[in-house]
Amino acid sequence: MDAMLTPELSALQARIRTFIADQVIPLEGDPRGGAHGPDESLRRELIERARRAELLSPHAARRYGGLGLSHVGRAVAFEEAGYSMLGPVALNVFAPDEGNMHLLEEVATPAQKEQWLRPMAEGHIRSCFCMTEPAPGAGSDPSMLATTAVPYQDASGEGYVINGLKWFITGADGARLAIIMAMVPQVGATMFLADMATPGITLERNMDTLDRCFPGGHGVVRFSGLRVPASAILGELGQGFRYAQVRLSPARLTHCMRWLGAARRAHDIAVAYARTRMAFGKPIGQHEGVGFQLADNEMDLHVARLTIHHCAQVLDAGHLGLHESSRAKVIVSEAVWRVADRCVQVLGGQGVTGETVVARIFADMRAFRIYDGPSEVHRWSLAKHIIKGHRPAGTAA
Ligand SMILES: Cc1cc2nc3c(=O)[nH]c(=O)nc-3n(C[C@H](O)[C@H](O)[C@H](O)COP(=O)(O)OP(=O)(O)OC[C@H]3O[C@@H](n4cnc5c(N)ncnc54)[C@H](O)[C@@H]3O)c2cc1C
Repeated sequence: MDAMLTPELSALQARIRTFIADQVIPLEGDPRGGAHGPDESLRRELIERARRAELLSPHAARRYGGLGLSHVGRAVAFEEAGYSMLGPVALNVFAPDEGNMHLLEEVATPAQKEQWLRPMAEGHIRSCFCMTEPAPGAGSDPSMLATTAVPYQDASGEGYVINGLKWFITGADGARLAIIMAMVPQVGATMFLADMATPGITLERNMDTLDRCFPGGHGVVRFSGLRVPASAILGELGQGFRYAQVRLSPARLTHCMRWLGAARRAHDIAVAYARTRMAFGKPIGQHEGVGFQLADNEMDLHVARLTIHHCAQVLDAGHLGLHESSRAKVIVSEAVWRVADRCVQVLGGQGVTGETVVARIFADMRAFRIYDGPSEVHRWSLAKHIIKGHRPAGTAA
């Protein structure tokens, strides 16, 4: 795959690789990285390092200070960033902000872009995306959306009053911008932009999760009588689910890119151990049971990278179909998970300790088979498509 990169992308790949090794990995043990992700001072230090290295927000358009990378360019840059769990934070390509920036770039008005997209792309503020709700609200099935946005009109103007409860909201703690999905009666699901400091928004608590790589962790957020002006609507009324797809298709893929980098790191550590650790008279890598796991890792990493680059090329050429993005998400999330799991095994007892970052990668990665659509939901949706006689694009007849 590397041989197929343009000279410019190869040079960028080398620059990011060096940056991650020299400027980011040394901060992995920093005490400012807590149970709910790196704190704001660590995030800012990482961002400043990337800014100095001219690597900040490579995905954002040049007019917002980014490098304006294509999707294939992102595949290269994000995999390199993902090699450290702090890398996506440093380059400002972590979730959910990277997907939110993409959504704003596609849908927001020029005024909304100046207000929210520019400071996000410059690394000054963070955001969150508020869609999932506790039962009986929206989870795997977004149509169960229970949060409402009811129109009001009074002396102060026109707008909407939002009520509802969201959870698993990544980055809510410390975010400035909330993108809120709510149901407007008789109109349909609609997205709204709100400053997290607005009265009516409460971060009730942070949830304790296996991962600790996302700034701000994952919050429970209540909207209670939140009043937003009509100018806070993102895009058009009633188009919320369509915009969710605008965000989700590429956002699934960029998660794949970052987690591929993390899986490659775990594999590199496992290979180094297997080459030197002796058992029963030879390095463990020379025992078939270990060597085959490393070979399987190579195959999984290769298939994941091919899948990502194929989808990135399709996105650069136009539009990536939902089923194709579903298929890619399942292929990659399950491949990188198998890699991380094998690496834990190859490292023996150390695999579950903090002696290497492999246990951290394993824990951080687990939820990727659930968010942006659980594997089962993607399989179910693909199966319905197949039974109807369709094939996802790119499938041989
Ligand atoms: C770490 C993390 C970060 C997240 N960040 C965000 C965020 O920033 N913003 C946000 O809005 N949400 C976020 N989420 C929420 C995430 O998108 C949901 O967890 C996901 O959509 C699943 O919804 P649920 O948890 O309600 O599971 P449920 O809907 O309760 O489903 C439970 C399980 O049922 C199974 N299932 C469901 N439907 C089917 C089916 N048709 N066929 C077969 N099996 C099925 C699946 O195995 C699924 O895992 C995050 C979640 C996690 C874990």
